[in-house]
Amino acid sequence: MSKYEAIIGLEMHAQISTKTKMFCRCSTDSFDKEPNLNVCEICMGFPGQLPVINREAVRKGIVAALALNCKIPEFCKFDRKNYFYPDLPKGYQISQFDKPLSVNGHIEIELPDGKMKSINITRLHLEDDAGKLTHIPGGTLCDYNRTGEPLMEIVSEPDMRSAEEAVAYAREIQNILRYCGASDADMEKGMMRFDASVSVREKGEKKLNHRAEIKNLNSFRSLGAAIAYEIDRQITLAEEDQPLKTDVTMGWTDDGGKTYFLREKEGSDDYRYFPEPDLPPLVTTKEDLEELRKLVPEMPQQKRKRYSEEWGLLPDDIRILTADLYTAQYFEKVVSLITDPKKAVSFINTVLLKKLNEDQIALKDSKVTAELLAELIQMVEEGKISNNQAKAQVFDEMYNTGKNPAKIAAEKGLEVVSDTSKIEAICKQIIRTNQNVVDDYKNGKDRAFGFLVGLVMKESRGKANPRIVNEILKKLL
Ligand code: ZN
Ligand code: MN
Repeated sequence: MSKYEAIIGLEMHAQISTKTKMFCRCSTDSFDKEPNLNVCEICMGFPGQLPVINREAVRKGIVAALALNCKIPEFCKFDRKNYFYPDLPKGYQISQFDKPLSVNGHIEIELPDGKMKSINITRLHLEDDAGKLTHIPGGTLCDYNRTGEPLMEIVSEPDMRSAEEAVAYAREIQNILRYCGASDADMEKGMMRFDASVSVREKGEKKLNHRAEIKNLNSFRSLGAAIAYEIDRQITLAEEDQPLKTDVTMGWTDDGGKTYFLREKEGSDDYRYFPEPDLPPLVTTKEDLEELRKLVPEMPQQKRKRYSEEWGLLPDDIRILTADLYTAQYFEKVVSLITDPKKAVSFINTVLLKKLNEDQIALKDSKVTAELLAELIQMVEEGKISNNQAKAQVFDEMYNTGKNPAKIAAEKGLEVVSDTSKIEAICKQIIRTNQNVVDDYKNGKDRAFGFLVGLVMKESRGKANPRIVNEILKKLL
């Protein structure tokens, strides 16, 4: 056991899902678009421009903050954060400094060993995004389509102690933002990025040592790898009696698998923050809050608890079903239409999602709607077709065509024969023609019975109701 422990805090930036930018009417739909189409005098910072606050961005920011259990002060304001960089045409970012939209939240995360841990959230504030730079041989290309898009920055307390905890926290935040519709948080489209602060200290120490902030991690994999690397690096430095002497800002390359020094960390003084003179302070009334609170749906953690308590589902199944809001809603819809919730779990997780996964299709694009799947499950429940027929024959066609399962079963001539006289006739015939197996059974070989059941099922071409076959065979023997 190492005598050191790591102290980790995360800042994350997530794009708020709105149609237009934070302070102007430009579209936010700029992924894969020609550069510099979605720009105007406001987001390009022309002299005399006047920004206007995007109401929808504020509302979604508040909903996200409430979902993260944050307090929403009555007043908040915007501030200018001044710095020069070619991706920032205004010369400043509009952010929130000392009066943010929300403060003092927390979420629960599940640790690898299944234990729960609470991570405190310092604040969630609003700001606008910078542009995108692409470095090419001989120069740099500037694309300002993203400039001015609405962001929420979520800052955690330094409550995490390992790379795994930090990744679990980041995943849970992504899930929560998607659940409440505040952000699509799609990392491949750059909608969510992390900065991780890492320091180490000897276990039992109370003070915080100097930290390294690793900038711009844009996948869970880089987040975990960069933190793990930086913890090791700092422990080695501490062991050599060479600990960090200042706070530093670091970069990370996925290719090299290493963090590298960028600069000594800037303090807030360096940004010369001052209140944004072109925007009024924001007031959130009690009535606004009550209205927005109604928009916060049941959170993933609450759902997981409910699935376990109400329906006795297993943790692995619950994890799959609550992985995103759409899947959870799909599952709940199916459950509302059938008798046994556990049947929905098995059909969704082991049949439908497995197939969709193989074909790389999203559940929301599946032809199998919740209603159709529920109907199929209910047909099995009511003994109209067997479980095998449902999974092997009806499901595939429903999956490919979106056709109604009852129709498919009828077309294929599938039905479960529950007519006892028909089944009894087949049983008698099988007993007659397999006397040696019957003798085995009577001499105590239990497996022989299963063999006879199999023969009857085969003779009925899979249509006999297995429960009735069992009963009749037992009776006849
Ligand atoms: Zn604009
Ligand atoms: Mn920021």
